[in-house]
Amino acid sequence: MARLVMKFGGTSVADLDRIRNVARHVKREVEAGYEVAVVVSAMAGVTNQLVAWCRDAAMLHDAREYDAVVATGEEVTAGLLAIVLEGMGVNARSWQGWQLPILTDNAHGSARILDVNGAELIRRFREQQQVAVIAGFQGLHKDTGRVTTLGRGGSDTSAVAIAAAIQAARCDIYTDVDGVYTTDPRIVPKARRLDKIAYEEMLELASLGAKVMQVRSVELGMMHNVPIFVRSSFEKPEDIDPSKRPSGTLICDESEIMEEQIVTGIAYSKDEAQISIRRVQDKPGVAAAIFGPLADANINVDMIVQNVSADGQTTDLTFTVPSADYERARDTIAKAKSAIGFDRVDGATDVAKVSVIGIGMRSHAGVAAKAFKALAERNINIRAITTSEIKFSVLIDAAYSELAVRTLHTLYGLDKS
Ligand code: ASP
Ligand code: MG
Repeated sequence: MARLVMKFGGTSVADLDRIRNVARHVKREVEAGYEVAVVVSAMAGVTNQLVAWCRDAAMLHDAREYDAVVATGEEVTAGLLAIVLEGMGVNARSWQGWQLPILTDNAHGSARILDVNGAELIRRFREQQQVAVIAGFQGLHKDTGRVTTLGRGGSDTSAVAIAAAIQAARCDIYTDVDGVYTTDPRIVPKARRLDKIAYEEMLELASLGAKVMQVRSVELGMMHNVPIFVRSSFEKPEDIDPSKRPSGTLICDESEIMEEQIVTGIAYSKDEAQISIRRVQDKPGVAAAIFGPLADANINVDMIVQNVSADGQTTDLTFTVPSADYERARDTIAKAKSAIGFDRVDGATDVAKVSVIGIGMRSHAGVAAKAFKALAERNINIRAITTSEIKFSVLIDAAYSELAVRTLHTLYGLDKS
């Protein structure tokens, strides 16, 4: 019999009514003949409350105790859903991370899953037709036996890891949107829902700030080739025709995507800040003198542009950091001034990064050039550019980000007709 993992996020289990709605989705799949493992998040807002309590208890607290506290949100949902399922006549049992177990490393607060034991779940599917309701987001440290959590949004990762462990045919991610879109529909009303998207593309979209799924869950899906289907939990279970493909977006291997578009999606982020170091000495070791201290300060540098020096003596170097780290980055550079050697530092926080993503870029030339031309025609100045195999990004004034996203969305034929 085919197995299915169904994951429900916080808004989908926000109260008992929604949990009952979730239970009807589960019942539908059980009746369709699937062996089902459900992975749940904490009820909406609960994790935030638990995190806030830890902070209020002590600004600096032991990460092991943070995990002990925040892991409880999912336990409540799992127990409640099992109760509701039983009430509907569906045999179900709840599971916490330690009971399977889901083993992780000891990076409390953002632990990585090392191994999931699905054997007992599979035995119970077989012998008792029992649905497993699993608390997402949590695991067990393999040596200390203490509870760990997987980082915010981590129940997506729990779901994909469990799907891999029980060789599920699919991992359905039920959420408050009905799929993955070509870009943010709030900005571009003509954004289209994608039928399919390749793991690599989804990884870029998620890394660039599309909040549909935790980045690690996509990585894990790619590694284990788990088909992930993003769909809405707000669709009424009764309205779903089991004989039809439900609406949603399948995240899958690129070989399964037939009609390949060159560009699949456009992402943007206003959480970047630009730093330009003027008249840096143009000699070996300078980049190391700049980026070494930033790395030591745990500041992630994204785009980097170095101008060719006109005089052979000095050059300008521009890079971006997360806006939250902007002040710290400037400080770090200022402290390293004598080691680096430069004239002055300029910066800007009113910038946005717009990224164009598509595996088709591997085999098509001139994709980015087209964008530069279109942006120029709109008088949008580009401050920095980065490219990789399947994406390119431009840094522009934040005021133009929406115009830029719309322009590129139309340019690459992504508008819905
Ligand atoms: N409840 C956790 C969070 O809010 C995990 C999750 O929902 O995926 O981050
Ligand atoms: Mg989530």
